[in-house]
Amino acid sequence: MTPTPPAGQLAALDASLGVVPAAGDRRRHPAPAHLVFFHGPMDCGKSTLALQVDHNQSRQGRHGLLLTQGDRSGTPQISSRVGLQRAAIELNADTDVRLLVRDRWAAGHRVDYLIVDEAQFLTGEQAEQLAELVDESHVDVYAFGLTTDFRTRLFPGTQRLFELADDVQRVQVEVLCWCGLPGLLNARVVGDAVVREGATVVVADTAPALQPAAAESAAEAAAVRYQVLCRRHFSRGQLGPAPTGPGQLALR
Ligand SMILES: [Zn+2]
Repeated sequence: MTPTPPAGQLAALDASLGVVPAAGDRRRHPAPAHLVFFHGPMDCGKSTLALQVDHNQSRQGRHGLLLTQGDRSGTPQISSRVGLQRAAIELNADTDVRLLVRDRWAAGHRVDYLIVDEAQFLTGEQAEQLAELVDESHVDVYAFGLTTDFRTRLFPGTQRLFELADDVQRVQVEVLCWCGLPGLLNARVVGDAVVREGATVVVADTAPALQPAAAESAAEAAAVRYQVLCRRHFSRGQLGPAPTGPGQLALR
């Protein structure tokens, strides 16, 4: 029989952690690690939050590793529109995040937590590696990513993190549709039209840095932009009154 913790303790754990470890586990690991996933549309402030979490953690004397993906600047970093930025390690689809952390340990560095930006681009396998780091190595993981792609479908990394994370939080939306409603969906726009089909394009978090997939030609890439819309205006394909009238912007 597993001893049952007092009800009050359970409730407190529930509230603070989102998970309730077995009593024996708690004794072995007094501070269980967590996988927390923050998600939202473009421009909702995810990267700012990522840097804030990193700041809060490092102030407590903890050592973190910042990871990102899809950064082609040559100097990978997590940057936010409010001007904060920090150097980060660039992941690709083949990176084993567990090995990355173990290599740091082998080199004598502490890694208490990971900040993973652009987590929508993780493979399912990498999301599972993050969960393993939490459970087996007691590394806290804070992942930040877009919820859905331009087809309104969950990104693969996002989906797996939804399935595995101890705590999933929608980032307080700071970005509004042109109509004033909260912007929830990332519309791909070519010319004046919302596009809902096509290759999944690599989306950076900030509009000026949008990075189309290598498969697309430079001309196509130049024509693609992204705009956050409410669900209704996404469905209608209406991009707002400027620079041309909404009537001209309908998809069909
Ligand atoms: Zn709207």
